[in-house]
Amino acid sequence: MTEHVVVALDVGGTGMKCALVRPDGTVHHEERHPTLAARGPEAVTENILEIAAGLAAKARADALEPVAVGVAVPGVVDEENGVAVWSSNVGFRDVPLRSLIEEKLKLPAALGHDVRVGGIAEARLGAGKGERHVLFAAIGTGIAAALVVNGAGYNGAHGAAGELGHIIVRPGGPSCPCGQHGCLEAIASARAIGARYRELSGLSDASAFDVVSRINSDETARQVWHEAIQALADGMITAQALFDVSVLVLGGGLAEAGDTLLGPLKAAMERRVTFHRMPKIVKAALGDTAGCKGAALLALDHLEHSA
Ligand SMILES: [Zn+2]
Repeated sequence: MTEHVVVALDVGGTGMKCALVRPDGTVHHEERHPTLAARGPEAVTENILEIAAGLAAKARADALEPVAVGVAVPGVVDEENGVAVWSSNVGFRDVPLRSLIEEKLKLPAALGHDVRVGGIAEARLGAGKGERHVLFAAIGTGIAAALVVNGAGYNGAHGAAGELGHIIVRPGGPSCPCGQHGCLEAIASARAIGARYRELSGLSDASAFDVVSRINSDETARQVWHEAIQALADGMITAQALFDVSVLVLGGGLAEAGDTLLGPLKAAMERRVTFHRMPKIVKAALGDTAGCKGAALLALDHLEHSA
């Protein structure tokens, strides 16, 4: 019998991570491509279709049978109908990606939200493995989260659940691109941390990375980091009040700070605990491949449900 694989793509604002993944989650082949977002959503869609078709052809050339396609995209995603509803960094506006892929590749396809499928991958294959109630929080340029219960992601009624970055932790605080003020993302995202440090230090090209690397030598960096950690703790304890998870998995670029993030965040959350039960706090294990692995899991789940 020919061995099965699924075609998995994680479409980001700048790059796409793509793979052929076996049903047990192991990777047969990986590729990376530029998204070409600047050329507009139609060109991006065409690019996705070409790359997916190329991966299916690669599978067949390697004597494997591609059986389904999973695609993860950012923004608002209608997973039920397979539509990329809205994305600021890729430019999607109501693109019926699932049916386009199914027509082009003649294979069943599933479409998912990048952070949500990344959370599914971390919960089932990564740092949340063995846990039934997992909150995956991606802290990078923005902040978003995914609640994963018994291995399944929670989408919300409109496919927009998990916007942890836009809960208000500092009423009247800094303005956020979403239109509100004092959102968690406006204080504790890598972008916000970099901006706050530049504002206080006068160093025009400093980033969140500089803040992390200067914590032990620069009082301003220490202050900016402290502010971000306190805001994160407020956001995370709110999430814990709502979801009561057993493990909080931290991913995204800022999680690369490791114990510099995890240690103080844990302490700040513990200071806020009253009735809550503290979750374990761990760093994500799959790095930037979580979205692609999650897209593969989505495709496999889709096959199982339609079988
Ligand atoms: Zn916001």
